[in-house]
Amino acid sequence: TPIILWLRRDLRLSDHPALHDAAARGQPVIPLFIHDDEVAGLGAAPKWRLGLALAKFAQALEGAGSRLILRRGDALDVLRALVAETGARDVIWTRGYAPDQIARDTKVKAALKADGVQVQSHPGHLLFEPWEVATKDGGFYKVYTPMWRAVRDRDVAEPLPAPSRIAAPDAWPASDRLDDWQMGRAMDRGAAVVAGHIHVGEDAAHGRLDAFLAHRVARYKSERDRLDMDACSGLSENVTYGEISPRTIWHAGWRALHDGHAQAEDFLKELVWREFAYHLVYHTPRLTTENWRPEWDGFPWQGEGEPVQAWRHGRTGIDVVDAAMRELYVTGRMHNRARMLVASFLTKHLLVDWRLGRDWFAECLVDWDPAANAMGWQWVAGSGPDAAPYFRIFNPDTQAQKFDPDAAYRKAWLAEFSRTPPATALAFYDACPRSWKLSPGDKRPIPIIELKDGRERALAAYHDHKEKQ
Ligand code: FAD
Repeated sequence: TPIILWLRRDLRLSDHPALHDAAARGQPVIPLFIHDDEVAGLGAAPKWRLGLALAKFAQALEGAGSRLILRRGDALDVLRALVAETGARDVIWTRGYAPDQIARDTKVKAALKADGVQVQSHPGHLLFEPWEVATKDGGFYKVYTPMWRAVRDRDVAEPLPAPSRIAAPDAWPASDRLDDWQMGRAMDRGAAVVAGHIHVGEDAAHGRLDAFLAHRVARYKSERDRLDMDACSGLSENVTYGEISPRTIWHAGWRALHDGHAQAEDFLKELVWREFAYHLVYHTPRLTTENWRPEWDGFPWQGEGEPVQAWRHGRTGIDVVDAAMRELYVTGRMHNRARMLVASFLTKHLLVDWRLGRDWFAECLVDWDPAANAMGWQWVAGSGPDAAPYFRIFNPDTQAQKFDPDAAYRKAWLAEFSRTPPATALAFYDACPRSWKLSPGDKRPIPIIELKDGRERALAAYHDHKEKQ
């Protein structure tokens, strides 16, 4: 009887414990991807990017003598139907940790078990299961550094190889056509423009890791904050769809460290920030939706309005903020330092609710991740665990001078910055919808707020809020 391998954010062949287990049993394996509510609810860019990931992964499976079956509907209904059609007695998947995923998987597991189907979930999305990392008194970590210290020297098993054989069933069940799902339909920001900036699939992810190790890891700590340099790995878009496992990256980082690249330690630390995000989301699911610190409830965040639109459209008049917001729109990516700057500007200078920023990122980022995004926003806003204190308000201009000293980053993304704008800056106008009414000939926007005034207003608001408590 066949085994159903329900794939989600684990679109790879190597270091895939669930696939490894399924293949090792010697029974036919039916790899299945379900377009359920979780997929339907994705923002435009992540949904489009997921479609590309599925197409690549389907090819990889075919190369291994297997196939990817696509079905649409409620996950439990789809699984039950496929079990009935194929006579499968086992369903296997890789665990997810976001609140909605846990709720769905718990329900599916209980129902299938009641039907007499064996269900097995595996690790693979994280280095450490969130319940396997605990403070001395058995609680969870609310601060990053002690968690890093606690996990740094743990033994992490070597990555598993891709299975040498994935047995196919005698007859393949019917599958939807990926094209019919129209995963790119909402991607009205010139999907063709964004496509030039992404690297899809397992091979591309490994290529990226190799290039990072060969050319950038040695100077990662010194250069990772530079907006004008390509100093980071760029792997987040691959990690988020599981095109490469965190364990593969972790071991590569350690090898670099042992080879004498001391700055590889900082790269390992970043991977643990991702673990920290999932650790927090698992233990406090409200991280994705509510102020993690309840004392922030009642803070007079601003809602929708012209300032938020100006921020989204990259026309705040603050150069580095606009450059980063346009980078996001054109590439589906944004440098980590830039994410912190634009988030700080939105939540502090403009006093806007971090959830509006979270949602725009969820719409635009090809590496959108429910845990890292929510943690990032709450960290910057001050409402999260281990967050930047309220009085830490980045000055975007000072930050730009420090991390983009020759203005190369700003020039790359702002047409207003030079007489002969580069293709990157012009691409923004191809990508953005006509309704934004922007053109490369526009004058530089007038700042929507003086940085000094915004800072003072934010400090006063925080002060008032604290007084009231
Ligand atoms: P590298 O510097 O090469 O780091 C290696 C890997 O470590 C990354 O691929 C990523 O998996 C992980 N990582 C690095 N920094 C962080 C971090 N601060 N938090 C969690 N994991 C990290 N990251 C996402 O993957 N998806 C998101 O939706 C997301 N939203 C963010 C929102 C805000 C407001 C902020 C401040 C940060 C956000 N981040 C998010 C974290 C970070 O910006 C990206 O992971 C990083 O820029 C990805 O680039 P890279 O792959 O070149 O990273």
